[in-house]
This record gives sequence, structure tokens and C-alpha cells, in this order.
Amino acid sequence: MIIKSSKLKISAVNPSSYPDDDLPCIAFAGRSNVGKSSLVNSVLKRKTLARVSQMPGKTRTINFYLINDNFYIVDLPGYGYAKLSKEEKDSWGKTMELYFSESKNLKHLFLLLDIRHEPKETDRQMYEYCKYYNIPVDIIATKSDKISRGQYQKSFSVIKKFLNIKGDEVKIFPISSLKKTGIEEVSDYMEEILK
Ligand code: GDP
Repeated sequence: MIIKSSKLKISAVNPSSYPDDDLPCIAFAGRSNVGKSSLVNSVLKRKTLARVSQMPGKTRTINFYLINDNFYIVDLPGYGYAKLSKEEKDSWGKTMELYFSESKNLKHLFLLLDIRHEPKETDRQMYEYCKYYNIPVDIIATKSDKISRGQYQKSFSVIKKFLNIKGDEVKIFPISSLKKTGIEEVSDYMEEILK
């Protein structure tokens, strides 16, 4: 996919401030620090559009990036940051639940998981949210530069086992924002999703 234009259209918490058009949305979700901002920037070939987090877990808004004037990349707030208060965690949950239940144009979600680690319970919850709301979901395994190519399959098996994924029902894209590998594959797949 060729990205001709991208701009942050709106940062929203409540459905009343989601974009009021009918353009399709592709969302990115993951734990704080998983490399989500870096990936969004890499996909958009920008250095600074999605701010790489200085304070993990502090972004509570849903950011809608309008791409090529015909779809949105939706950057969902990172989760699983241990130092958040109960109120902050509850507010994250509420924001997400509202988004899943109220968003009419969500076509697809990419769940980002660090390629090096077994997913956490919160990742499973996010995956289950998608299943519950019938949102097609695929996985992006981030920071692939941190392991050798030969270890990818083992890492994918750990992810699949943890999330109880059978066969090829879910795609797993290994990507490195640092080395810029795998980005094109995600970008091309987004084009397919939008067809
Ligand atoms: P976010 O909290 O999920 O938005 O994560 P960020 O994009 O802010 O990245 C968190 C940390 O991981 C930062 O220190 C990044 O430099 C680092 N990081 C992000 N992507 C990669 C990657 O592909 N490879 C490596 N080695 N580090 C990465």
C-alpha cells in the first residue's frame, strides 16, 4: 500500500468524539511498551506521527489517524502497565468496552505481542474481546530483531498455544520497526483487508 497522506484526525475517549464519517478502521492494540507507536510510525513511514511513549501507560486516548483520506488507523491505548491505579485501569477498560461496542466501522484488529515473551493474561483478554465482538484479529509479533529468524516458529507456537489458536486461523506477522522488516507485509495485508 502506498501511503499518500496521513494525519491525526482526532484523539477521543468517548464515542461522541469518534470521527463521524463511515470510513473503515483498522485498530492496533497491545501492552504498553510493546512497540505500537514505533510500528504505527513505521507503517506510515513517519518519524514522529505517533509519539513513541515517554511515559508508558499514560496515553488513555484512542487516536484516529486518517490515511489517504479513505481509512483510519486506530491506535488503542496501551494496557498492562503495572503502576497504574485501579481507577486508571478501570477507565482504560471502560474506554475499550465503549470502543468495541460503539464502533461501527472497525474492520480488523492487530494484536501486538512482543516476540520474545509468552503473552500475558491481559493479552488474552484483548484477544477474547475481539472474538466476543466478532472483530477479525491477527497478530503482529514485535521486536523480531531481538531473536534469530530460526527462533520465530518456536515463538509463534508459544503465542498460539497461549491463545488457543488452531492451525492457520490467525496470521502472525513478525516485524521489526528498528530494522524495518515485515512492515511491508503488514501494509500490503491492510490493503487486502480494505478491498
Ligand atoms: P508503545 O508503548 O507500545 O507505543 O511502544 P514504543 O513504540 O514506544 O516502544 C517501546 C520501546 O521499545 C522503545 O524503547 C522503542 O525504542 C523500543 N522498540 C520499539 N520497536 C522496536 C523494535 O522493532 N525493535 C527493538 N529492538 N526495539 C523496539
